[in-house]
Amino acid sequence: MHALPSDLIVFERGWLSSNNLLCLGDAPAFIDTGHTKHAADTVRRVRDALGGRPLADIAHTHLHSDHCGGTGALQAAWPAVRTWVPAPSLPHVQAWDQDALTFGDSGQRCDRFSAGHALVPGQAVRLGAHEWQVLAAPGHDALAVLLFEPRHGILMAGDAMWEHGVGVIFPHIDGSGGFEHFTDTLALIERLDPAVVIPGHGAPFGREGGAIQAAMARARARIEQFHAHPAAHALYAAKVLIKYQMLDAESMAHADFQHWLEHAPALRTLHRQHRPDLDWHAWLALVLAPLFGKGVLRRDETHVHDGA
Ligand SMILES: [Zn+2]
Repeated sequence: MHALPSDLIVFERGWLSSNNLLCLGDAPAFIDTGHTKHAADTVRRVRDALGGRPLADIAHTHLHSDHCGGTGALQAAWPAVRTWVPAPSLPHVQAWDQDALTFGDSGQRCDRFSAGHALVPGQAVRLGAHEWQVLAAPGHDALAVLLFEPRHGILMAGDAMWEHGVGVIFPHIDGSGGFEHFTDTLALIERLDPAVVIPGHGAPFGREGGAIQAAMARARARIEQFHAHPAAHALYAAKVLIKYQMLDAESMAHADFQHWLEHAPALRTLHRQHRPDLDWHAWLALVLAPLFGKGVLRRDETHVHDGA
């Protein structure tokens, strides 16, 4: 169980959109904005909860397309909103450099938005009625930050920590970082000793009852497994990227699905990291077989469908 102050409202979303945190108060703020696909729903939820007051701030734990896809629509609804992104991403957002923002590399899409404010690790930012500490949280994403509210012990973790499982370690795929950064960030979370963790996906979980401790042990075990068997991480990442694409597309004609597979550069890298001994199409068949076998994806004569 966990208790949040009544002015903090978690919108728990499915697996394409990230969770969102609405921070009420004189200057309401919204942290992480979900996927572009659900942007209209996100704006509607925020508008309903604000009851006519304007949204003052938007902040992001990191800029993956499931965490910033609603930002453009929110900015259109509240043009005076201030938008905060992790400091190193600010010039990339301002130039809308999709490669630097990593949407291009994974074949994902995200509506354009603007940003004028940097979340600088080591500094604090006021969002809603609370001061939040900004802490660097490399691992899942090299530039990610944690937002920690120390008075109530509330951690907006993004994808640095989930209750079950761990996110893909993207820096390991592009060679910019290793699994140890993820472990370092888990150690940082342990030192913060939060009362409640609001993860990027899944329900919030608390210190009470040992849920955070248990989640920490599971995450560490998983990272140790990846460390010992990096190929297992590459296979996991390939499945996640394909499933993510199908959560967004829902259905694709066979030729379009094949075209997407051929052109998502991250998959080529993952092929090399997982089974360079196999040729590309044999590798794709190996990755796809369990996805179809377990009903994660379905196919009929004309299309591939998300199995959800
Ligand atoms: Zn996410």
